[in-house]
Amino acid sequence: MDTRELDKIVSDIGSNPLSTIVAMMLSANRNFNEKYTKEEQLEMNHNREAIRREDVRCANIRQGICPSCKGKLIRGKKDKRNNYKRSWDCKERKEMHLA
Ligand SMILES: [Zn+2]
Repeated sequence: MDTRELDKIVSDIGSNPLSTIVAMMLSANRNFNEKYTKEEQLEMNHNREAIRREDVRCANIRQGICPSCKGKLIRGKKDKRNNYKRSWDCKERKEMHLA
C-alpha cells in the first residue's frame, strides 16, 4: 500500500467517522438476521426464557419457598457433589431442590 492510498483511507474515515460506525453496526445487525433463521432466533429467545425461569426458581428456593408447591423448604447443607449448591428439602412432597 503506498502513502497515497493510505491518505485516501484516512481522509475517508476522517470525513465522516459516525457514518462509518453506523454502517458497521447496520451490517452487523444484518449479519445476525441472515446468519440465524427465524427458528434459531426463536430458539435463542426460548433459551433466554429458560434461563430467566431458572433464576426465578433459584431465587424462590433461596428464600425457602418450594418452586413446585410454594411450601416451606428446610435448608440443607452445601454439597461438594452438587457443585457446592445447597440442598433444600420440601416436606410437602418429599422432594429436594438445589440452589
Ligand atoms: Zn414442594
